[in-house]
Amino acid sequence: MHHFEYRDGVLHAEDIPLDRLAGEIGTPFYCYSAATLRRHYSVFADAFKGQDTLVAFSVKSLSNVAVLSLLAKLGAGADVVSGGELFRALRAGIPGEKIVFSGVGKTRAEMADALKAGICQFNVESEAELIALDEVARSMNVRAPVALRVNPDVAAGSHDKISTGRKTDKFGISWSIAADVYARAATMEGIDVSGVDVHIGSQITDLAPFGSAFSKVAALVSTLRDQGHDIRRLDLGGGLGVPYHHQDATPPPPHPLDYAKVIHETASHLDLQLIFEPGRMIAGNAGILVARVTYLKENEGRHFAILDCGMNDLIRPALYDAWHDIIPVTEPAEGVGTSLIDIVGPVCESTDRFARNRDMPPLKPGDLVAFLTAGAYGAVQGNEYNTRPLAPELLVDGDRHAIIRRRPTYDEMIAREDVPDWV
Ligand SMILES: *Cc1c(COP(=O)(O)O)cnc(C)c1O
Repeated sequence: MHHFEYRDGVLHAEDIPLDRLAGEIGTPFYCYSAATLRRHYSVFADAFKGQDTLVAFSVKSLSNVAVLSLLAKLGAGADVVSGGELFRALRAGIPGEKIVFSGVGKTRAEMADALKAGICQFNVESEAELIALDEVARSMNVRAPVALRVNPDVAAGSHDKISTGRKTDKFGISWSIAADVYARAATMEGIDVSGVDVHIGSQITDLAPFGSAFSKVAALVSTLRDQGHDIRRLDLGGGLGVPYHHQDATPPPPHPLDYAKVIHETASHLDLQLIFEPGRMIAGNAGILVARVTYLKENEGRHFAILDCGMNDLIRPALYDAWHDIIPVTEPAEGVGTSLIDIVGPVCESTDRFARNRDMPPLKPGDLVAFLTAGAYGAVQGNEYNTRPLAPELLVDGDRHAIIRRRPTYDEMIAREDVPDWV
């Protein structure tokens, strides 16, 4: 479900035609729908109504402060993976007690910042990290609320590069030593052992891996309680997939209500707070990337459309062979023919290719196109390779819109660089 649709032959973001926004801000740009963000958050949160839950939005999926503020108003917490994301979440008005801190490489400085902010929970991923956190907390005379992220050794069935819950992945603490590390943690003065955490991957479109991971961690909670640990929170991570194919018959990913049912069946008997860290499920279909065709060209019978956005703006296709539907902003006339074309960017890399042999209606230079489902892991992974300015971000809400990150000038882009006088 999203709010990007053709009206009167032009693709709209809610009530605003995208050609108008392109004229105002220039291309390329990201555009988010406030209604879609609100709807996705509510669908997810409502699936657990009446239970003690914290929905901690995964900040790394879409970290613009305006988006975080919008979600904060709905009651969302935040899952952060760096000091920078913690700073953003706090700046957006998300209270410390609704923030969880994940990630395999938290530094002591980041730990201290999070302890100062009084966060809800550290999801600790190794014994070495636990020892460091204990030291930092004791030096500040506080106790750090901790869940150990355990690795349940399940394959999530999504793309290899976004799977995190197999025993050879870098994430989490091995299942075989988890109970020992909990025992060790319980002896540390700076550590308050309070939860169990699991996150098995991203873009998961099948409920079975969730079911097997969640029943394993639920059993672990019982074992740990029997061993005397006061486990009050169970963090089940993120990972619920979203539809990327809107034009064919690919079966849709599970609805949050069905996901909630799996959790009801595996964890509802435990009587503890449930934490979720959805990212893509909330942000994915709430955003698009709009670009313009710069040139068409043909090499030895192969046809290319060259856009003014590149892999620096949207890296998912280059990084994980991701599919994005790409549609013209002007609705193609009914019955118009299609042909196969490669859709590429201007960056000097062969991987700067968004689609290969894509069946597209006719395009010509100057036409606008939209990449659908680009809200999550889109703008956040943008970079300035080839000294291309970061694409700006727009937020639309009904007939209102605002630029929530403007395009930097070239001066701003090089302002942090210095030439030493000995050069
Ligand atoms: C990336 C990540 C998430 C969010 O995953 P989605 O697939 O976007 O829901 C949640 N938790 C952790 C620890 C992550 O690394």
